[in-house]
Formats: sequence, structure tokens, C-alpha cells
Amino acid sequence: MRIVLVGPPGAGKGTQAAFLAENLSIPHISTGDLFRANISQGTPLGKQAQEYMRAGQLVPDEVTIGMAKDRMSAPDAESGFLLDGFPRNLAQAQALDGALKEEGQQLDAVLDLEVPEDEVVKRIAGRRICRADSSHVFHVEYSAPKQDGVCDVCGGELYQRDDDREETVRKRLAVYHSETEPIIDHYRAQGLVTTISALGEVAEVTARAMRALGRD
Ligand code: ADP
Repeated sequence: MRIVLVGPPGAGKGTQAAFLAENLSIPHISTGDLFRANISQGTPLGKQAQEYMRAGQLVPDEVTIGMAKDRMSAPDAESGFLLDGFPRNLAQAQALDGALKEEGQQLDAVLDLEVPEDEVVKRIAGRRICRADSSHVFHVEYSAPKQDGVCDVCGGELYQRDDDREETVRKRLAVYHSETEPIIDHYRAQGLVTTISALGEVAEVTARAMRALGRD
């Protein structure tokens, strides 16, 4: 299956993507994670992305589209993938459509995670992520680790993302509304969009998502 996950920052895309990818046996491709890996390795691509991310802006398409296509053409993504954080504007959506068409492929579904804005800010401000594995995500209130600052799953160090400060979150939300939301209409016109609520327990949302994908 080829799936795109969309939703505002804080909707839980990363958390859900990890479970869904596992359930569906397809790779989870997160452009945010790819950028963060490049930043921590100090690559030229990471250096280009860093300032934009810190400001809550989109990394330019020239950088993002090439990186995403590269990852999608890896052998493990041949029979499907779950895209998380890409495409994030219309130009990226068109680039993805074009790349799939060239390969004679198409998307199966676009899953839109819906969450109220005040909930988004609460979720992100308390979010803590494991340095060793970004799919290990905690929240200081809603899913606190047993020991402060330590990942329950692997013992890695938990940290707050640079762009999870409140001012940056508001900027990211504004960018989501102006740049990313239009791709939902783009895909709706192709009959691909299913919207589900991202409120409730993580497992509940995963079950809802699997139902929406016809895989329950
Ligand atoms: P979230 O979904 O919580 O905002 P991500 O990890 O997906 O977090 O993205 C973090 C940041 O990485 C974005 O605010 C943006 O700066 C950059 N980024 C990620 N994906 C893209 C993309 N497809 N195009 C441009 N910038 C991106």
C-alpha cells in the first residue's frame, strides 16, 4: 500500500505512522526524521534544513523533494510506503504524483488526522522524544516515562525538539493551514482522502486508522 498521512503538527502522525507501518509491513518515511538525522550527522543537507526547521518554516522544495524521492526509491519501499510529513505543499504533492506516475504507481489512500488547535499546542509543548529512536514518543502529562528524561522502551535520552517551543508551534500551525491544508483538497479531488479524529488513546486512533484503510 502507498499511503500519505496528513495532519497538523501534534496530531500524532509520527506515533501513528510507526504503528501503522508495522501493522502494514511497509516502511515509515518521515521527512522530519530524515532532516533531523541529517542535522545530527552534520551533513550539507542538514545544514540547509536546520534554520528553516528552527523557524517553523518549510525546508525549500528543491531540497525536500530530492530527499523524499531518494528515500522512496530504496528497495524496501518498492511495494509500498507510509509517508509522514511529505508532501507538505501543492508543489510537493504534484512532484509526488509525477514520480509515482513515472513508475506506473499510485497512492492508495490519504489519511487525514484531525485534532483541535488548542489540543495541538498542549500535546506539542509536553512532547519528549527519544534520541535513540524517534518513534519512542512521550508526553510529560499524557504518557509520562517512568523515569524523568529516560525512554521506557530503550533507555535512550528524552529531549524536547528545538521546534517544539510554543512560538514555533504557532508558526508551524500557520504554515500548516496556508501550505499543507490545500493538499487535502488536491487529494480529495482524486477520491483518496479519509478523515479521522486523532483524539483518544493512541491504540484507539490506530484502530480507527486501520478501519479507515480497510485493514481491520
Ligand atoms: P511535525 O509534523 O510535528 O511538524 P515533522 O517532524 O514532520 O514535525 O517536521 C518538522 C519540520 O521539518 C517542519 O516544520 C519543516 O521545517 C521540516 N519539514 C518536514 N517535512 C517537510 C517537507 N515535506 N517540506 C518542507 N519541510 C519539511
